[in-house]
Amino acid sequence: MPHPNDPKLKSFIPVDPASDFPIQNLPYGVFSTRDGLAPRVGVAIGDYVLDLWQLAQDCRIDVVEQGVFAAPSLNAFMALGPTVWTRTRARISELLRHDHPELRDNETLRKRTLVPMADVALHLPIAVSGYTDFYSSKEHATNVGVMFRGKDNALQPNWLHMPIGYNGRASTVVVSGTKVRRPRGQLKPPTAEVPSFGPCKRLDFELEMGVVIGQASAIGEMLTEKQAEEMIFGFVILNDWSARDIQQWEYVPLGPFQAKAFATSISPWIVTREALEPFRVQGPAQEPQPLEYLRQTRPNNYDMQLDVALRAGVMNEAANICRTNFKYMYWSSVQQLVHHASSGCAMNVGDLLGSGTISGPEEDQRGSLLEISWNGTEPVELPGGVKRTFLEDGDSLVMRGWCQGDGYRVGFGEVEGTITPAG
Ligand code: CA
Repeated sequence: MPHPNDPKLKSFIPVDPASDFPIQNLPYGVFSTRDGLAPRVGVAIGDYVLDLWQLAQDCRIDVVEQGVFAAPSLNAFMALGPTVWTRTRARISELLRHDHPELRDNETLRKRTLVPMADVALHLPIAVSGYTDFYSSKEHATNVGVMFRGKDNALQPNWLHMPIGYNGRASTVVVSGTKVRRPRGQLKPPTAEVPSFGPCKRLDFELEMGVVIGQASAIGEMLTEKQAEEMIFGFVILNDWSARDIQQWEYVPLGPFQAKAFATSISPWIVTREALEPFRVQGPAQEPQPLEYLRQTRPNNYDMQLDVALRAGVMNEAANICRTNFKYMYWSSVQQLVHHASSGCAMNVGDLLGSGTISGPEEDQRGSLLEISWNGTEPVELPGGVKRTFLEDGDSLVMRGWCQGDGYRVGFGEVEGTITPAG
């Protein structure tokens, strides 16, 4: 049987070469339709969603535990572990292959299991157990450091020794398309003597990837590179919305709190770690060498193109404001997970780890408005005479990501969020 990542594989379902969802991808999501059935697990293929619950009902997929695909999240399926993930993906690939007649020639089954993507609503794909956000792009940390502390003290002394992170809120992780209400909070601009409470005036996005943890680790246990890797089920695009003015006043001495707690948006399809395997690349050289527990024996970065577009209410279409790549990250997702568990912190099925804002070395590769507008001093100019330093009410922000193969791409779809007034 050919490997599911084989670039030569073709599905009997026609897939445009520019589609994010060829047979080499097969990302998992949770969807519902107007048929009134509860949200359930599916896989994206071209312009269709393959209903895994229906396939399991028809005994076409052996997942040991019945019912995992009837669930409104992927947690139960993820808990079954990497051997089941691999076997299931291989079976789905087989069922969708152009030269495999089982589903291709069974019209009744096809009608029951293949739903046009245009007819589905996509839901949050996981029940988020915990959300941790890292700060692992050297370019981003340097840009922010230069802005607030000057060139000579841009990176804090700990930054090159460990992936810096904070524990965020799982309760406000939302799926693409969910509107984001402008947060309120305590503000104290440098010119004000006393703080006031009101709507955030410096609302920003952060372009990140989210790692979905599919296996638990025990309290008190450290993880090896290999163990950490095997716990990673897949990746989503993540927008870590940030209230810069709230953050600036509150962050001393414990870091961000309300400035990051009001919303975090993720893309609806989880692209599996297995599907990203062909796009694995070496990350930047790490100097000084990390402590032993953080050392890597293999390339743990991914060559993944990322794109951010902004559409103000008055604009007809979104305009690109950032093009960068996940490969630039200094600390890999595996290192983040190893470090996260290093104190003995237990990880849970459904944990979500934000990579940290992904900026690249070039000016057009900055992954936040804070950097793009250089702390509000250089407004970005958009079509139609629109200028932005930070996000305004009615603005819509769209992030996309994909790995480019030879004649196909393994993509994520998009994560979109529109800002509504604080009220
Ligand atoms: Ca962040």
